Amino acid sequence: MNIAIIGAGIMGASTAYACSKRGHEVTIFDQFNPGHTNGSSHGNSRIVRKAYPDPFYTEIMQEGYALWQELQTQTSEQILFETGLVYFGKRKSQELHLVTESLRANGVKQSVFNWSDFADLSIQEDEIGYVTKDAGWVFAARAVQTLLTLSRVTVIQAHIEEPKELLKDFDRVIVCAGAWAKSLFNLPVTVTRQTFAYVRTAEPMEGMVWIDDTHPMLYGFPSEPGKSAIKIGVHNLGDETDPSEPGQPNADHLEMIRACARSRFGIQNPNLIDQTTCLYTRTSDEDFLWGEASPNVFWASPCSGHGFKFGPWIGERLADFAEGKMHPRDVPRFNLS
Ligand SMILES: Cc1cc2nc3c(=O)[nH]c(=O)nc-3n(C[C@H](O)[C@H](O)[C@H](O)COP(=O)(O)OP(=O)(O)OC[C@H]3O[C@@H](n4cnc5c(N)ncnc54)[C@H](O)[C@@H]3O)c2cc1C
Repeated sequence: MNIAIIGAGIMGASTAYACSKRGHEVTIFDQFNPGHTNGSSHGNSRIVRKAYPDPFYTEIMQEGYALWQELQTQTSEQILFETGLVYFGKRKSQELHLVTESLRANGVKQSVFNWSDFADLSIQEDEIGYVTKDAGWVFAARAVQTLLTLSRVTVIQAHIEEPKELLKDFDRVIVCAGAWAKSLFNLPVTVTRQTFAYVRTAEPMEGMVWIDDTHPMLYGFPSEPGKSAIKIGVHNLGDETDPSEPGQPNADHLEMIRACARSRFGIQNPNLIDQTTCLYTRTSDEDFLWGEASPNVFWASPCSGHGFKFGPWIGERLADFAEGKMHPRDVPRFNLS
């Protein structure tokens, strides 16, 4: 088949890869140049993990994680950094309890955080952390570029107003428009601008990716190769925004990042560098959405701040929709209606 994809972020690139592996011809349309920083998939790192409070997502990531490992075998550039994850919070945290239950239900190994696992991170006496080895981070921009290269797609810079008009030239249209899907399909989602930054460290800091379940929820990464800095982000508190408007890092969030650097990593005078924003496209329950807009036009909105790790899995499902092997309503939880 001849398949058109709108959007060259992680979802569009993963879908292109899945379709091309199955022998289809793929063309991607994006309103910006590949590698742009206006959407959700730019930057160096995204957490990949099976640890979720909801067993539904842990189950999907059993397959999704293996797809990242498989992708890594296709390129000599390192995309997947399997550092492990520590998910920590108050001992009484309901969310943390659900995470451990979800891992147990899916047979994913976990252990209680031990200070020697990650000596630079301090957690308090009334807190507990759980470590899973099936986790780490992916080099985001590099992953998108690798998927596009492996797919051998034609990428055309063009803004598509009406996806179904592409059916004049293509057999199927798949829309992975990120935050712009809200207006294209009138979706019940909120687009927010999130802030993250790097904090300079005296030397590169090894360790795991981490999620701090206390409020506000923060997350972070060990140093990237050759970088004396750690990346920290604030989850869930972004300002609502129009994705096409330029945005600035939020000053309150930068202060939370500094506070975290002091309390968790003992960095007394945090020096922030590379302060950046990125778009979440959130549903009220953080579930993903997908659907069939009209015959042979499929769309997916898998963001809500945690979608990147699911990119390869979503790409396979969108390829299934295009081939008629599956329909969006087969996963009622993501089906808008
Ligand atoms: C700060 C931050 C941290 C995150 N951390 C994590 C994490 O640790 N782990 C994780 O799993 N996820 C994380 N996420 C979420 C993840 O990054 C997103 O779920 C994912 O990148 C969404 O990808 P996408 O392809 O749907 O959207 P995008 O990357 O935004 O791609 C959509 C593309 O569609 C194009 N487009 C839109 N409309 C049109 C049109 N009409 N015509 C042509 N082109 C169009 C856009 O230009 C854009 O390039 C994070 C997100 C943010 C913002």
